[in-house]
Amino acid sequence: MAQYDYDLFVIGAGSGGVRAARLAALSGARVLVAEEHRVGGTCVIRGCVPKKLMVYASEFSQSFKTAHGFGWTIENARFDWPAFLAEKDKEIARLSGVYVRNLENAGAGLLHGKARVLDAHTVDVAGHGKATAEKLLIATGGRPWMPAQLPGVEHAISSNEAFHLEELPERIVIAGGGYIAVEFAGIFAGMGVDTTLVHRGPNILRGFDDDIRTHVAEEMGRRGIKVVLATQHAAIEKGPGGLVSRFADGHHCESEVVMFALGREPYTEGLGLETAGVKLDARGAVVVDDYSRSNVENIWAVGDVTDRLNLTPVAIREGHAFADTEFYGRPTRFDHETVASGVFSQPPVGTVGLSEADARHKYGKVDIYLTRFRPMKTAFAGDDERCLMKLVVDAASERIVGCHIVGPEAAEMIQMAAVAIKMGVSKAQWDATCAVHPTLAEELVTLREKYVAQGLGQAA
Ligand code: NDP
Repeated sequence: MAQYDYDLFVIGAGSGGVRAARLAALSGARVLVAEEHRVGGTCVIRGCVPKKLMVYASEFSQSFKTAHGFGWTIENARFDWPAFLAEKDKEIARLSGVYVRNLENAGAGLLHGKARVLDAHTVDVAGHGKATAEKLLIATGGRPWMPAQLPGVEHAISSNEAFHLEELPERIVIAGGGYIAVEFAGIFAGMGVDTTLVHRGPNILRGFDDDIRTHVAEEMGRRGIKVVLATQHAAIEKGPGGLVSRFADGHHCESEVVMFALGREPYTEGLGLETAGVKLDARGAVVVDDYSRSNVENIWAVGDVTDRLNLTPVAIREGHAFADTEFYGRPTRFDHETVASGVFSQPPVGTVGLSEADARHKYGKVDIYLTRFRPMKTAFAGDDERCLMKLVVDAASERIVGCHIVGPEAAEMIQMAAVAIKMGVSKAQWDATCAVHPTLAEELVTLREKYVAQGLGQAA
């Protein structure tokens, strides 16, 4: 008789947990998964997927403006938020069902309830009781971080609630300058909400290439979003006209909704990992090695709960690598270098590799190729929107080490650029690629002149 009830117990049915559970079960292992909310995790239920649907919904306002320039008259266009939400929720329920079926088809068991680790091999699931397993995988993800000490913080929402607002506000204040703040500012502004983004730093999107940061902030401003920099909330009060955001610099701003997007924290609270001796870092993340193994030999963790690179495809690859290593006899480490990502701001960002500043720090001398231009489609319609494309080249090896794009379909373009850059493409090889015409992307392979900044793009 087997020593344990299961070969693998996975806590958390999000992107990373489901991938690992499915693959392990398909190898013939006995797998049990516990999930306290809905199957699919942050990405499917309250992250990437509903967010992208909201981006699509909000982009119509811009399309309607452009349509006019192409001869269309669009009358009585109005946005029905409750109708959209209902359709969005239907789609999320469908996708969650697909995840459940994928687990079932692979032969993994699924329990709904909060799991608590009792010791290195025993997990208790609320409402179901205890089970033992040879290996445990922690894949509980992250959750929005809220500044608990801020007076009036209880009046603010996080991105979790933004997906379910009963009505669309007239005005919203969004705090933060990262992925979520910038994406939701574009969403709400596109839906016609008077949108203010407040960020404590000198520019949004810290960590991204400086030219990208400045370009996105300018484009947001051009689309009517008020971008307020170098201050932050000191308090939120309830006033007769709505919520009053009071800022550290003495200014204030009224809105019906205040949303905080000030980062996310690993979700390990109440999991009982300490009882099993699992080491957590200061933010509560599970500390793991290159194979996602914690300090306890039979416990692993993947995805946002490890606070490495908090992106869905990364969690999936970490879960996959874990299953390959432990259930298929193929020791596999996921390589966290040169991972592309998209920010679904409006216009969106696609980025891979090093920013100019990081490349200068790493390589010393770098060559920059950069272009800003008006896309044919929007320029024809009389819009002033601009694209930005930038290549960062290590001067010594002549390899492209960074590619950064702001403009329509930037996230689609960057996926393909990432293939070449991950392979170590040289600028000469890149240039040998013939353009596809007429596209935006052709500008990327026709960048011949080295760019010398003239006081532009050097944001702090
Ligand atoms: P980010 O870490 O991207 O940004 C957090 C923002 O909040 C930063 O601008 C930060 O400022 C600011 N901030 C942090 N603490 C405070 C504070 N105490 N007071 C005021 N401002 C503060 O977090 P998000 O919440 O936007 O997103 C979380 C993560 O989720 C992302 O990093 C990303 O990994 C992932 N994600 C990915 C998406 C995608 O791939 N498209 C979409 C959404 C999320 P400062 O810069 O000064 O530190």
